[in-house]
Amino acid sequence: MHILIISDIHSNLAALEAVLKAANEEGYDRVWCLGDVVGYGPAPNDCVTEVQSLEALCIAGNHDWAALDRIPLEDFNRDAQEASRWTRDQLTLQSVSYLEGQPKLRVEGDFTLAHGSPRYPIWEYIQLPSIAAANFAHFDTSYCLVGHTHVPAVFRALDDRKAEMFFPPLDVPLALGEGRLIINPGSVGQPRDGDSRASYAVLDGEADAIRFHRVEYPIGRTQTRMKEAGLPKRLADRLAFGW
Ligand code: ZN
Repeated sequence: MHILIISDIHSNLAALEAVLKAANEEGYDRVWCLGDVVGYGPAPNDCVTEVQSLEALCIAGNHDWAALDRIPLEDFNRDAQEASRWTRDQLTLQSVSYLEGQPKLRVEGDFTLAHGSPRYPIWEYIQLPSIAAANFAHFDTSYCLVGHTHVPAVFRALDDRKAEMFFPPLDVPLALGEGRLIINPGSVGQPRDGDSRASYAVLDGEADAIRFHRVEYPIGRTQTRMKEAGLPKRLADRLAFGW
């Protein structure tokens, strides 16, 4: 069983399509999506429809909740507020109902899925080993998959209080089975690690390993749609820089 793991698509259809095309070449049986299907980008309904048609196992992210009016927009910066308001206006009833149906957490075999963290699924950013260390007590499975930071990373529990962080190499299998891990596949639609390519991972159930990948996508196509939609210019510009 190969599972394609995607997160933080952020209404970027061109990036999602590029990831699906590349992942198809490797092959996958199921899709797990770690939230923030919408927000920031120009194609919220297209992305929800695509995720839905993949029959992905999905969870809710903070931008999904903002678009559903479940969290106050004041918690966001100005550009994100503007994009969230725009997204709310765009969402079809079908998209709203899909997003409303997504839980904050899921447990699937030996994996817990949370957008931010298992402790505070919607909002907490696991950016540092100390934050990861505090989170290992908040899930029971061996592994937790998170998104939210838009930076691909792996955190390994060292003992009850310590964790180490490392940036996984691309295109080579990272063996599972050696201790507990918190794994972030990075962001499909708005990477923030200085690499503008869409980020994703593929879990290989037989080999007990996970592989991280990056794929180029036509950034200009997304930027043009954002401009046409009147979305903040800064949000379009940042895609080219991967931050
Ligand atoms: Zn996000």
